[in-house]
Amino acid sequence: MEESRGSKRRLVIVGGGIAGALLAKNMQFDADVFLVDPKEYFEIPWAELRSKVEPTFADRSIINHNDYFTNGRLVTSSAVSVTESEILTKEGRVIAYDYLVLATGHESSAPRTRNDRLEQFVEENQKIKSSNSILIIGGGPTGVELAAEIAVDFPQKKVTLVHGGPRLLQFVGPKASAKTLNWLTSKGVDVLLDQTIDSAGLSEEAKEFKTSAGETIHADCYFICIGRPLGSSWLRESFLKDCMDRQGRLIVDDSLRVMGKKNIFAIGDITDVAEIKQGFFAQKHAIIVAKNLRLLMKGMSEASLHKYKPGTAMAIVSLGRKEAVAHLPVITTIGCVPGKIKSKDLFVGKTRKQLGVEPRGGGT
Ligand SMILES: Cc1cc2nc3c(=O)[nH]c(=O)nc-3n(C[C@H](O)[C@H](O)[C@H](O)COP(=O)(O)OP(=O)(O)OC[C@H]3O[C@@H](n4cnc5c(N)ncnc54)[C@H](O)[C@@H]3O)c2cc1C
Repeated sequence: MEESRGSKRRLVIVGGGIAGALLAKNMQFDADVFLVDPKEYFEIPWAELRSKVEPTFADRSIINHNDYFTNGRLVTSSAVSVTESEILTKEGRVIAYDYLVLATGHESSAPRTRNDRLEQFVEENQKIKSSNSILIIGGGPTGVELAAEIAVDFPQKKVTLVHGGPRLLQFVGPKASAKTLNWLTSKGVDVLLDQTIDSAGLSEEAKEFKTSAGETIHADCYFICIGRPLGSSWLRESFLKDCMDRQGRLIVDDSLRVMGKKNIFAIGDITDVAEIKQGFFAQKHAIIVAKNLRLLMKGMSEASLHKYKPGTAMAIVSLGRKEAVAHLPVITTIGCVPGKIKSKDLFVGKTRKQLGVEPRGGGT
């Protein structure tokens, strides 16, 4: 069991994605904070696709937790269970809490260290560079952004995108899907809709791929871009199992506390808040919960807690270095105008600044 430091309340944050990292940064001088994450670093998720075509881009989008979380305790492990008062980690560490925040958005299979993650991008870049034809499996934001990055940076390569649904980017409106399909097609990407490829048994060396519609695709390499599972399977046997919805999301009240629990909050993609799952909203959750934790730690009443209002549907999907498709509350637009907002720096400088690290600098 971990020793307490001084008289501060013990706050345990599980998950060091965009929600958990910002909360840890904001709370580190107000509580005895533990951040539990299987990786030693925070990674800006939507910079991943640019880092595959330009590996040095990851120097700024991967930030060691210790660079912004300087006054707390980092536990580099996965949480495997939780009780009313403790978290249990994969290595058998037991961490008691006064307050708990669950921020385990999606599962990640990324390597433990920053250097290994940077090396992985170099290898993926080699894979792209040494291939004439590339297959991308999955037409959600990850598959679309990767197809676009390759089509823009390596226009001579043959890119095929296979998507199981009737339209790309199903998480936004049909107008955005249609504009994106046109854009990709105009860049020479072959898009196959309503077809799947069984990726389960594929070997790294596979060069021939059969789709569910019986088509055969030849490609020198492939990338699987289907959504990662929610990071809540570890809660299914715990005392929080009845606080989850059918998808495995944690049911929260309007102050982002887990249903019926006074000292447990959830933030980010793991919550059932009725809004598009976006890092931008996950950061808003973190800011509200930091305020609410401070109020509770000062002994303020529950009635004083700040309420979270779900965000309106909006998303920007980058299409290479200059363009993007934006699904906004009143319009859907594609091209250089939305591209100016996201596609050059992919909000990396902005996110670094929010974490209090040098916006233009690289990591350690
Ligand atoms: C291609 C793409 C582009 C996107 N573009 C944008 C954009 O432009 N703007 C925007 O706002 N959003 C964007 N998003 C959405 C955004 O990435 C997510 O909404 C955001 O990452 C959610 O943050 P999170 O902290 O809740 O979860 P995650 O980012 O999934 O982080 C979860 C963390 O928890 C850890 N974890 C998981 N299980 C455990 C466990 N058992 N124990 C301990 N730790 C655990 C993981 O390792 C990870 O560090 C994009 C997403 C994609 C895929």
